Amino acid sequence: MPSRKKAIVGPVDPRRSALMGRVKGKNSKPELAVRSEAHALGFRFRLHRRKLPGTPDLVFPKLKKVIFVHGCFWHRHAGCPRTTTPKTRAKYWKEKFLQNVRRDRSSLTAIFDQGWEALVVWECETFDRDRLSKLLKRYLSKKHRRQTEAADRLPC
Ligand SMILES: [Zn+2]
Repeated sequence: MPSRKKAIVGPVDPRRSALMGRVKGKNSKPELAVRSEAHALGFRFRLHRRKLPGTPDLVFPKLKKVIFVHGCFWHRHAGCPRTTTPKTRAKYWKEKFLQNVRRDRSSLTAIFDQGWEALVVWECETFDRDRLSKLLKRYLSKKHRRQTEAADRLPC
């Protein structure tokens, strides 16, 4: 289930975006699912634009919209059964997860500041293709979307 908690956003830390590649598996299965559904809906997009904050997974230049596909474990999908915490080296993991979450928030803020809209699609939301398609259609068809909706979907 997506988080509806209000996210607190902070400034961008470029050191953190450098770590992005390690956390985000490019061309991951969930990402391929999102691409395939967006394509089926007739939307054209580009991939992993490094020019944009956080290197969004899908970029729709004409719509000025981006999509981030987040793995539930790494990006800490709130309330999701996949968001487990390893029992060993708990401190290490806690710090690592905190960094990921902070960086995600910073990326969103920076994206909004540049006048783009953003949607976070969680890994577990890509399993049901019909629901995924509806989610994408709603987001991509909508003209004026509240920017904070994307931030609301991140863990607090
Ligand atoms: Zn999840």
